[in-house]
Amino acid sequence: MRSLIRTRFAPSPTGPLHLGHVASALDGWRRARASAGAFLLRLEDIDPTRCRPGHAAAILDDLRWLGLDWDEPVRVQSEHLPEYRAVLEALDSRGLLYPCFCSRADIAAASGAPHAAPDGSTLYPGTCRALDPARRAALLAEGAPHALRLRSDLACRQAGPLTRFEEKRGRVACDPAAFGDVVLARKDSPVSYHLCCTHDDALAGITLVTRGEDLAPSADLHRLLQTLMGWPEPGYAHHPLLRDPSGERLSKRNRSAGIGALRAEGWTPEAVRRLADTGAPVPLAAGAA
Ligand code: GLU
Repeated sequence: MRSLIRTRFAPSPTGPLHLGHVASALDGWRRARASAGAFLLRLEDIDPTRCRPGHAAAILDDLRWLGLDWDEPVRVQSEHLPEYRAVLEALDSRGLLYPCFCSRADIAAASGAPHAAPDGSTLYPGTCRALDPARRAALLAEGAPHALRLRSDLACRQAGPLTRFEEKRGRVACDPAAFGDVVLARKDSPVSYHLCCTHDDALAGITLVTRGEDLAPSADLHRLLQTLMGWPEPGYAHHPLLRDPSGERLSKRNRSAGIGALRAEGWTPEAVRRLADTGAPVPLAAGAA
């Protein structure tokens, strides 16, 4: 018996839908439809500094134009902030969070030669973890802006050794400690991608997370959050990123600027889907034909 796949496409409306998005959306949609499962759409719009409502509307319009459909109402993360806050409170009540008052410049200065976490963010040197409790209380009392960070060592100890299922590799060991004390709530945005994404996948009963391989390292951290919160474990299928024949990521090329631009040039939905499937630099005239 085929297992039903519940999966999702979860773009951040920080810009137009591009070919890399289309490749992800098509991958998830085809798997869900082939298994008679469900394909859900989620707008990850929690970063008020980067997301624009106009982009969200255009993304939905481009997906419909491409012939994709989705089940259940679209989940819009910015409409669910209290749910994410409740997760933060649950982690905090177990002593797993601490406030971090550092600026980017503080972190750069304290890190010397900064190391990168697996998702490319700067590995935090731990300054505020060791803050004197009286100083921490005073800063909080005066309303100093702060992020909330995970106490990684404690969290990893509580969770124990972790593995996850990656479609092409089977069971793999996770290394969430490599992320260090990751930010779960930012100064300028009430919650982080990692927390909202993991929460929403669990809430939606996602059985297979389908997305680009640039997000594969984050799955180790997501497994940690799932374990700490007692959420079910999904499988993961990270697809290769679109590249042109020279190996360059297609998302870096003008051609990938936006599906809206391709539509305006006269491309058909079939031609755009083919381009997203192959990454092949089809001449514009051929694509439009
Ligand atoms: N919102 C993320 C992005 O647009 C994708 C998150 C995910 O699929 O887990 O890169």
